[in-house]
Amino acid sequence: MDKTLRLWRTADGSLQQGVTSQSRSQGALVGADQQLLAVTGALRKASAELQIAKSLKVELEQSFHNSELQRAWLLAAQLPQPSQYLEYDIVVLPTASPVWRLLSGLFVGSAAKHRRDLRSADFCEAPALEVEQIRSVVNPRLLQSYLAELDSIRGKHRGGCTAIPELGRLRLPPGLYRPDLNEHLLFHGALPESIEKICKGGFDPRRGGEGVGAMFGLATYFAINASKSDIYTEEFSRRLQRSTQRTMIVARVALGAGFRTCEPQRKWSRPPDGPDGPDGLPFDSVWAANAASGGCVDHVEVMIYNKSQAMPMFLVDYRHTEQCRCAECLKRPQ
Ligand SMILES: [Zn+2]
Ligand SMILES: [Zn+2]
Repeated sequence: MDKTLRLWRTADGSLQQGVTSQSRSQGALVGADQQLLAVTGALRKASAELQIAKSLKVELEQSFHNSELQRAWLLAAQLPQPSQYLEYDIVVLPTASPVWRLLSGLFVGSAAKHRRDLRSADFCEAPALEVEQIRSVVNPRLLQSYLAELDSIRGKHRGGCTAIPELGRLRLPPGLYRPDLNEHLLFHGALPESIEKICKGGFDPRRGGEGVGAMFGLATYFAINASKSDIYTEEFSRRLQRSTQRTMIVARVALGAGFRTCEPQRKWSRPPDGPDGPDGLPFDSVWAANAASGGCVDHVEVMIYNKSQAMPMFLVDYRHTEQCRCAECLKRPQ
């Protein structure tokens, strides 16, 4: 507006040199200019108010979104309260539930790029995954032994456990139990015929690494990328069709004190001793750092060596979309 004003003043100068009959219209011009200034001022004020209103709206939406997300996490963290007489039960989650939205978001959003082949330098597109159903697993016996394990970890770490930022996206709301025991939701891929066994009897670290390479010893392996666990939903020698509906387990895992490893630990059958040596408390779990932060795997992996530190919580039934061009789809029959 200032520019227009200056321009007008330049025009004013040239007008004054002109015919006098122009002076009346010049007066009208000054009046119009003042009106324009008033309108501009009002506009500025209105626009500033609009800005404030807009940022308030964004803030409100953000806090609503945050509280919705927090609520979803709290719901997802709720422990089932099943009847003691039940062996185990599987309940379909309604797609409208906050937990469904939370889990499917974590699942689809965690898909990462993987190597074309084990030793290939070439990374393929991240899988395009589609969640079709989420079921919740309720198993009283597994819950009991998990709770007992939480109790024993709590006994060892009165002051709580150090958080692992690399796993933060999947961490259950800290402070559910004090001290915090580093509980996370993590992905676990298994063959279709093993899913039911795990829902019934839990994870078995003694079988751990079967067909996985056992890079970190005799353990149950978990991933923070659904695309990593997806690899273990079939046998490499007997791949399932691309469009097959697959099922992945989302487990609740108590990591306690997690040991960070940057190299393979093929012989381990338990986490290493703590910083105080063999007389100190051993770590409760191991996690492998990714290559980007100095580790030896492309994607973070988490290992527990003790059965009751994890329990299956949800089953995600999903497919790779028709458009998927991920490293696995390229090797799967049409
Ligand atoms: Zn411990
Ligand atoms: Zn795919």
